[in-house]
Amino acid sequence: MADRYLGLTATAPGRFLTRRLGLPQPAALRRWSPQHPSLDGGLLHLTAGTSALDLAPVLARTGLTAAASDPAAVVLDATGVRDVDTLAEVHAALHPVVGSVAASGRIVVLGAPLDAGDHHRAAVQQALEGFTRSLGKEIGRGRTVNLVRLTDAAAAESTLRFLLSPKSAYVSGQVIGVGAGPVGEADAVDRDRPLAGRTALVTGAARGIGEAVAETLARDGARVVVLDVPQAEPDARRVADRLGGRALALDITAADAGERIAAELPDGLDVLIHNAGVTRDRRLVNMPADRWSSVLDVNLASVLRTTDALLAEGALRPGGRIVATASIAGLAGNAGQTNYGASKAGVAGLVRALAPRALAEHGVTVNAVAPGFIETRMTAAVPLLIREAGRRMNSLAQGGLPVDVAETTAWLAHPASGAVNGQVVRVCGQSLLGA
Ligand code: NAD
Repeated sequence: MADRYLGLTATAPGRFLTRRLGLPQPAALRRWSPQHPSLDGGLLHLTAGTSALDLAPVLARTGLTAAASDPAAVVLDATGVRDVDTLAEVHAALHPVVGSVAASGRIVVLGAPLDAGDHHRAAVQQALEGFTRSLGKEIGRGRTVNLVRLTDAAAAESTLRFLLSPKSAYVSGQVIGVGAGPVGEADAVDRDRPLAGRTALVTGAARGIGEAVAETLARDGARVVVLDVPQAEPDARRVADRLGGRALALDITAADAGERIAAELPDGLDVLIHNAGVTRDRRLVNMPADRWSSVLDVNLASVLRTTDALLAEGALRPGGRIVATASIAGLAGNAGQTNYGASKAGVAGLVRALAPRALAEHGVTVNAVAPGFIETRMTAAVPLLIREAGRRMNSLAQGGLPVDVAETTAWLAHPASGAVNGQVVRVCGQSLLGA
């Protein structure tokens, strides 16, 4: 379902009218394309407090040139902020430049991990979250603001490259933690085809977000396995043929789905994307047990079962990546979606608890994407007024596209993203629902 309002505000009379009426002004987002692979402009590197990060070589490898004015990207290193006085340097650094950041530009604030032993430092480092999210809500013109907590700049290279590119067009207001390592194979990987030689399985990939994820992972060089229910096999086959991959007709709720995937892929798997999901909305008072259990089974129980089975079978090779699909409905809650919200919050819980163990025992990272309002068949079925509210109630005042979730997934699946583990990253244009 096309977003007609976005089309209207792209015309001069439409813009005039909607401005006069005080209506939202969504900007046309600049997304990645082969012709437009990076931001339009340079990078400004600022520092607040005294930083110990060795950032310059990492920023040099983003391919963005240093900009003294009118930047397309600003990186503010605030890891050295330790008290309210040095926090003022965040204001001093950004206040003069924020107005000149290009449309669809990026501001990335770097913070330190929260230190429970030093409550002054913890207070001002936590303050960076409120700062980032507030700036994200006011900055406009398709510009995004995110916070990365890190201790090692090299470990965050794949994350900074993603956030400082058109690929992160719909990711704003996020706080992403990057560990100290292992980094992965940052230098060894082919920049254009980082997943070359790897196999990626995407559940629910016959259409919608899953199809876009399969397409993006194939662009990045992966051999893709397009899994969907047997009824969707023709579509799954069409997607697989287009991407040079293979289709796998399987209901992911089958008790032995994990074992069957492992049997189909005797050489193992590198990337596992749990994307299949369903909604069966009703308020709890009207919700029969089968509407509850079918949603919990597809969205959570099957994710738990297949993950356990594939890890137990050793089917995920070391360096592997698991990306599950949560939802902002699971983080913020949504009327009529107690079943769906429970299932998606469960996914976030699974990711946070399993991530350290999966990395230690199998060398596999586990993260989640949490989409907001994404333009798919699922959201086209939402009643008009709720759909319109869903589209506008975010800092970018528009719905995201499946490719926005796919690009975020591709960053998490990247061989150099080994230090990103246990994160739940919202792809929601900074939805007003939840944090
Ligand atoms: P969609 O309905 O367009 O596609 C879902 C796919 O999953 C379909 O191809 C379907 O056949 C498949 N599927 C369903 N049950 C399955 C099963 N038992 N086994 C195998 N495949 C199965 O949905 P979408 O909008 O592309 O959503 C994809 C994921 O993103 C879901 O997990 C959804 O909950 C989540 N999500 C979507 C949005 C959004 O705005 N569209 C927002 C938040 C989260």
